[in-house]
Amino acid sequence: MLPFESLVRANIQRLTPYSCARDEFKGRAASVFLDANENPYNTPYNRYPDPLQEELKAKLAKAKGVPAKNIFLGNGSDEAIDLIYRIFCEPRLDNVVAIAPTYGMYAVCADINDVEYRAVPLNDDFTLNGDRLLAAVDDHTKVIWLCSPNNPTGNAFNRKEIERIVTTFQGIVVIDEAYSDFNDLPPFRHALDVFPNIIVLNTFSKLWASAAIRLGMAFASEEIIALFNKVKYPYNINQLTQQQAMRMLDELPRVNQWRMTIVNERRNLLPAFAELPICKAVYPTDANFFLARMTDAESIYHYLIDRGIVVRNRSRVQLCGNCLRITIGTPQENNALLGALRQYR
Ligand code: PMP
Repeated sequence: MLPFESLVRANIQRLTPYSCARDEFKGRAASVFLDANENPYNTPYNRYPDPLQEELKAKLAKAKGVPAKNIFLGNGSDEAIDLIYRIFCEPRLDNVVAIAPTYGMYAVCADINDVEYRAVPLNDDFTLNGDRLLAAVDDHTKVIWLCSPNNPTGNAFNRKEIERIVTTFQGIVVIDEAYSDFNDLPPFRHALDVFPNIIVLNTFSKLWASAAIRLGMAFASEEIIALFNKVKYPYNINQLTQQQAMRMLDELPRVNQWRMTIVNERRNLLPAFAELPICKAVYPTDANFFLARMTDAESIYHYLIDRGIVVRNRSRVQLCGNCLRITIGTPQENNALLGALRQYR
């Protein structure tokens, strides 16, 4: 891995971060707070939330098996994605390399930050081509974006191939594991000590069934977490979100039940879907969705919309011609989907 001085933007290295009232005073008990220009009425919503979300991180550390000092929390994983550009990539000078197709926000955030985005196609069967990816790297490549299980293809990549990329590349490798809770593969967040140049992304929006509260996680070395904390908005996770996330972390049995139901539904739905005459292929998935190649994705998509069923039309995405991306729903929802498609003429 390159030294931080050559990986991190000079302005971020020089930056003196904003110091908020809740940063300057913490620890000792106090009962009169006259330091943050808050309104003394309307408890508890009158107070700014904990800027570093320490109580929540302590709970998360247990649930995820990662020390609190290696966790950053963002307003969705999308905040972490944007911060990675702002920390590491000099606009109009640096570039990033990513697989294609993949989650669209990596490219959108590159455009917003005016950073060149090098999209490198996966193999035709959606497996990872490490050589092709590494061949796109040059001296100005700061970040490689990997997403495993990948969106929209659904498959997790070969671990050895990911490790080869991580150990060969000298910059930062982001491994977005938003969907890793839907398979039994060992997650990369447990390998931070072995691979100091990785940032692993997780989210409350998928297995934890909490997309509405906007809470994403980044797991990384303490040095990288310090950079996230330096650049983020002072109070980026609001109090309601922190409280609701802690409530969800107390509901692990319910969450595990959802995981089992969804994985079970995936096992049942995929072969039934593959048997539809209008389905040409269902691709292997390790996530809570699957990609299917159809005879005519466009018209099937509109047919389903007319019946009140919304799936994602990925036909215009690289390598995904005529493909629909379909989320695993409840047993009733999955039956409604199959029932509608069996009647498609
Ligand atoms: N990563 C991947 C791979 C995703 O598919 C998504 C959402 N579809 C996200 C991140 C965004 O997650 P969040 O809701 O935490 O911003």
